Amino acid sequence: MKSPIRNEKLKKLTILTGICACLIIIPIAIITGIVRAASGPEEVPAVSVEDIVSPTETTLAEGEVTSKGYKIEVVDGVTFINGILVVNKTYSLPKNYNPGGLTEDTQKAFEKMREAANKEGIRLWVQSGFRSYDRQKELYDRYNEERGTEYADAYSARPGYSEHQSGLSFDVNEAGTNFEETKEGQWIEKHAHEYGFIIRFPEGKAKFTGYEFEPWHLRYVGEELAKELTDNDLCLEEYLGITSEYK
Ligand SMILES: [Zn+2]
Repeated sequence: MKSPIRNEKLKKLTILTGICACLIIIPIAIITGIVRAASGPEEVPAVSVEDIVSPTETTLAEGEVTSKGYKIEVVDGVTFINGILVVNKTYSLPKNYNPGGLTEDTQKAFEKMREAANKEGIRLWVQSGFRSYDRQKELYDRYNEERGTEYADAYSARPGYSEHQSGLSFDVNEAGTNFEETKEGQWIEKHAHEYGFIIRFPEGKAKFTGYEFEPWHLRYVGEELAKELTDNDLCLEEYLGITSEYK
């Protein structure tokens, strides 16, 4: 038989344990509830795109103005800035954009340049002119497969992002880094702008153009702009105040 005193002690101990348990369990339950409520979807603050991407990194779109004050216009998916058709790593052409070859102006300007060069004993030819979206895809995929994405992106364009698709660009003579050292390459560097062409990816401008130096890749922009860009040592991205980066 248990003694009454011992029974009394047991009762007190049970009550005390109960109180202690309540003191511990209740705050835990409250804290857990608060944490759960805070992590619930209705409590997550809305983060806008502006908070993540600073305005300078945002791609400029139709109707906006570049950092140099030029208005961006998009016509049937083709971007024009200050009236200049722009294709680079930021601004692409629609898949079905296909002028069917070099534009008439580009062709005419090249013929004029070729004849002038010929008179000085310099022979020029178009090594690679217009390329369709599908042709560019084949080329890029091959580079990517053989040499990796980093190389492919430095020297080739992803389909839809090649200026060759515009019919305003072509590679003259040989697409090789020693072209600048040949007499043809030196003639191009000195005279191309007189015929409305720019060396589209000049030396030391990769951070603006998104491409390494390509002394053979010419772009037709017209004589006036070609002269202005060449005289001031500006690439098209610097002149227009735009980026050239894949999204
Ligand atoms: Zn090219």
